[in-house]
Amino acid sequence: MRRFPGKVAFVTGAASGIGRATAIAFAREGAQVAITDRTEAPLEELRAEIEADGGAVLAIRCDVSVPADVEAAVASTVAQFGRLDCAFNNAGIENKAAPVHEIALDEWDRILDVNLRGTFLCMKQEIAQMLRQGSGVVVNTASGAAIRGVAGGASYAASKHALIGLTKSAALDYAKSNIRVNAVLPGNIETSMMDRFTGGDIQKAIALEPVGRLGKPEEIADAVLWMCSDLGSFVTGASISVDGGWSL
Ligand code: NAD
Repeated sequence: MRRFPGKVAFVTGAASGIGRATAIAFAREGAQVAITDRTEAPLEELRAEIEADGGAVLAIRCDVSVPADVEAAVASTVAQFGRLDCAFNNAGIENKAAPVHEIALDEWDRILDVNLRGTFLCMKQEIAQMLRQGSGVVVNTASGAAIRGVAGGASYAASKHALIGLTKSAALDYAKSNIRVNAVLPGNIETSMMDRFTGGDIQKAIALEPVGRLGKPEEIADAVLWMCSDLGSFVTGASISVDGGWSL
């Protein structure tokens, strides 16, 4: 039994890592999937992969920090598939490590523009559509760094902490409108972001994980699909850690 037949999913940052795994999972569970990313070539590869697997997919180049891109991406999704049931706002970037007094203003803005403002821009468009159709679920990718500090990572941690406030407030705004809004908080996950973060020294990240291994992007996808499914029907405003105990 597939869990999302007739449903439409929208995924940002879908060309790599957690977004890619989640887009594939949605398609395998029967959803029609709009895959969006600012990087085009790997997005095209994913589109071909999902199509070859029998999935219905639309690939859209979209930089989440650009309002016109986001508006056009949501509009194209609705034009193609007729609705938008599950929105996974996942696009995010890591900071260049620096203590607070050494963070350049443009570096601070770069992180907040994508991680926080980008998520807000997506939510505005997605939720407007969900209100028109009378239902929907939003999941935002935060991080363990949304509930703990990170030395050298103040801009990233601040952006992810803010996502929790955005998620909780939106959950209240739409609680009576049949729209749920939740956040997933990944720990240390095997993706290209992790490769860049550790400079290839994966043992450094494994040492941070109580369970003694990194998480897989598919393990985040499982949690996102659960939140988007009817199994999560009473879950809204939640911050769900999927992190092997990292944030404890
Ligand atoms: P990744 O680098 O593998 O993938 C991120 C994707 O987002 C890339 O395809 C990139 O092109 C895209 N992207 C970046 N900026 C964008 C923008 N402005 N507009 C559209 N797309 C953009 O990273 P990942 O590990 O899969 O990260 C996904 C999310 O998970 C991020 O929000 C990240 O902060 C969060 N996260 C990751 C980890 C981890 O350990 N990997 C841990 C906690 C949280």
